[in-house]
Amino acid sequence: MPELPEVETVRRGLEQQTLHLPIARIEVLRARAVASPPDPDAFAAALVHCSVVAWHRRGKYLIGELHRHNQPAGHWGVHLRMTGQFQLVRQSDSACASAPCPHTRVRIWTADGNELRFVDVRSFGQMWWVPPGAALDSVITGMGKLGPEPFSDSFDATYLQRALQGSQRPIKTALLDQSLVAGVGNIYADESLFAAGIRPDTPSGRLNGRQLNNLHTALVDVLQRSIGAGGTTFSDFRDLSGTNGNYGGVALVYRRTGQPCRHCGTPIRRDRLGGRSSHWCPDCQH
Ligand SMILES: [Zn+2]
Repeated sequence: MPELPEVETVRRGLEQQTLHLPIARIEVLRARAVASPPDPDAFAAALVHCSVVAWHRRGKYLIGELHRHNQPAGHWGVHLRMTGQFQLVRQSDSACASAPCPHTRVRIWTADGNELRFVDVRSFGQMWWVPPGAALDSVITGMGKLGPEPFSDSFDATYLQRALQGSQRPIKTALLDQSLVAGVGNIYADESLFAAGIRPDTPSGRLNGRQLNNLHTALVDVLQRSIGAGGTTFSDFRDLSGTNGNYGGVALVYRRTGQPCRHCGTPIRRDRLGGRSSHWCPDCQH
């Protein structure tokens, strides 16, 4: 599942390859890919002849700023969910490479003749059009519940202490809650808890100031390193050109069940916590 580093990688790709290119045509092949407006034709009509003048990211949401004839024309929101991905298909690609696969949900042709394709095997990915002047979270309701961005000034050990005070919820489960911190999923929660030396099942409210400091530092560091590496290799994640990231090569615990810990040699454990798998080292994490 794409997490913050993967979504940020996609954002950078979109910003490099799709800015200021007027949208010539849109075809919605699967209606459920469009969350709002409810009629996919209305979505297509809202975006056609628009250009994206900037791509932003908030948590795992991508937000394209739309202009039409140099006037603001609202926002294009995208959430990749489990398996959503964009593919850029160039006019010069061979006919075989450019044939849409059966999981293609939305096709967007730009005025230069190239195509931006939204492919989503599990089909949980969503798109929204937010009319000009409307608040993003009035249409993309999930955005209203997002906690701070991990790289923002408002996210630090003091914030974590306040937010987690008295909580019995395992810290691993808390990290996956988008209202605590935006953009973190299973991979980076496991990796940052290992880097901070904290057991995933520790009740959140029991973490002391030193542990919260370590956790904050580890989370920011792990996310930043993965953005630098272009996202992980664990999921179906591909960037716009179909390339996998390479963070997987340096994962310390995620999906390494039974393999020796890279620090101490103890076999990595996998436990279910809040319905999700947690990978951790019983010797390095307390
Ligand atoms: Zn270890």
